[in-house]
Amino acid sequence: METTRLTVVSTRLAIAVDREPSGQWTITPFSGSLVTALGPVLRDRGGQWIGWLGTRDTMEETNLRDLMDQGSRLTGYALKPVNLTEEDIRQYSFGFSNQILWPLVHDLPSRCNFDPAYWTVYERVNAKFAEVVAANTCEEDYVWVHDYQLIMVAHHLKTMGIRRQTGFFLHIPFPPLDGFVKLPWRFQVLNALLSYDLVGFQTMRDRRNFIDCVRMLMPKMRVVGHGQIARCLTPDHEVLIGAFPISIDFKQFAEAAATSEVEDQAWIIHANLPERQLILGVDRLDYTKGIPLRLQAFANALERYPELHGKMTLIQVVLPSREEVPEYESLKREIERMVGEINGRFNQVGWSPIQYIYRSLSRMELLAYYRTCEIALVTPLKDGMNLVAKEFCACSIENNGVLILSEFAGAAAQLHNGAILVNPFDIEGVADAIRRACCMESDNRHRRMEKMRRSIQRHDIFHWVNAFLRTGIHKDLDQFPRIEFFVPSPVQAGHER
Ligand code: UDP
Repeated sequence: METTRLTVVSTRLAIAVDREPSGQWTITPFSGSLVTALGPVLRDRGGQWIGWLGTRDTMEETNLRDLMDQGSRLTGYALKPVNLTEEDIRQYSFGFSNQILWPLVHDLPSRCNFDPAYWTVYERVNAKFAEVVAANTCEEDYVWVHDYQLIMVAHHLKTMGIRRQTGFFLHIPFPPLDGFVKLPWRFQVLNALLSYDLVGFQTMRDRRNFIDCVRMLMPKMRVVGHGQIARCLTPDHEVLIGAFPISIDFKQFAEAAATSEVEDQAWIIHANLPERQLILGVDRLDYTKGIPLRLQAFANALERYPELHGKMTLIQVVLPSREEVPEYESLKREIERMVGEINGRFNQVGWSPIQYIYRSLSRMELLAYYRTCEIALVTPLKDGMNLVAKEFCACSIENNGVLILSEFAGAAAQLHNGAILVNPFDIEGVADAIRRACCMESDNRHRRMEKMRRSIQRHDIFHWVNAFLRTGIHKDLDQFPRIEFFVPSPVQAGHER
């Protein structure tokens, strides 16, 4: 069947909605990599994005319609909201997604809260998404569903008797069999994934884990093929299974990092921290990012290599995230205690070992840190990909940056030739890597960084979209027909809010 239109489905619509004190609603499109990548396939091509509006404030139906029309004009594609209640968000997003799937796939099952009520609501919310997909698409549409919050969408479409071509991309890791089997709903989740026509993972390791689970838990399914794309033959259809490492808009980062504004800001950062190497950590507040272990490793380097005192400063940026969850609040306190302890212990006149930033940076600041820091310390305990690693390389336009990267980040599969790979649990190993990075000769730095930058440039975010769409529907970005005049379609009648 000829596919003419793409529908993207993700938990959140790619917009931020705010209410001003006057009561007026405003809308701002997101600018992340996913939006950058998918925008061209959706924009002026009749595409649409389905997702939750991201606000818990209730809105009049007319306000919602106006806002969506306004958003559609700004983005160039239709926005279709899914209405979620407070209870939905609590149990489906903070519950099943963040307290079960998230720790499970990051190999931390002891952090899982397997509350059966979470599963019930997860199923119900996925069914809500499927209803909005069914109401807003036709058989020729390609429906591309994103991430762990929406595993069940294709399954619900099938249950409703709706035939659609569907693809699913998992942005986070897929766990090995012995972790996955702990999930009380393991069969339902595997079955749901096999309801899609294409399932994409970040790395071959994730794909292998998934195939192992299918083979062990569903012996009647046959998985064939060992190349880039494997096929699972289910009783009613064939599912393609591939690895599609997500990336960044390399060109946009590299060009922005070269602007005089970023250069000036970068200069100011280094002028304030002179005659030392700057080591950068940028992470969302999350226990998977390994920040406390990283701080221990940094302290260990200072203990064992006193010659580094005064010669390096760690700039650790932590982005506030999931602050309403008590576990995240206590992680924040632990990080702050450790930063205080390390600074108190090693501080000298004119030198503090760690500069700690707990807030979201402006884009300009982030680029300036990427550009000016000599070393990036990216040590998640496990990560689907880790875009910070790729963004740092893209902005290292003089090829003089050194990337210290966890072997358990998806990015390691691609960047292992240029990065210093570390086991984030090995405190002395990471400390040694810090010393090695600080002492690395300029030739070696250049050679390594050039390799990584070339690879990221070649496999950028557009390459990722094309690879997925070519596998799913034998089309790439340029083959979605343009529409002369884009008219946003009305919000679905009967849709709440
Ligand atoms: N980032 C941001 N604001 C900041 C610092 C970083 O939006 O102040 C972005 C950064 O550019 C990157 C993302 O946050 O694209 C982090 O992505 P990553 O894959 O490293 O980790 P995730 O948070 O998705 O687990």
